[in-house]
Amino acid sequence: MTCGLCKGQMQEALTTFDTTIGDSVVIIHDVPGYVCQQCGETWYSGKVVAEIESMLNKIKESYVPEVFVGNFGFAATRKPKPASNSSIKLAA
Ligand SMILES: [Zn+2]
Repeated sequence: MTCGLCKGQMQEALTTFDTTIGDSVVIIHDVPGYVCQQCGETWYSGKVVAEIESMLNKIKESYVPEVFVGNFGFAATRKPKPASNSSIKLAA
């Protein structure tokens, strides 16, 4: 797999994804992605993007604090975590 910007080599990594919903900042840790070793750009698979979108939709449906910090629950097979650590489960 090569970078869509510079054609550099990509390396799998757990990344931190951040975005905004209105005035709120949303930070999601441990998102499995690919980081370009040349330009540092992060890429996500379609499956991961879909999971991020569904997480963002769940957050939007509930109260959105000024800063929302959560873990990416989708990657259980890569990095097992107790379900109680997931902020998304609390928000659902
Ligand atoms: Zn690149």
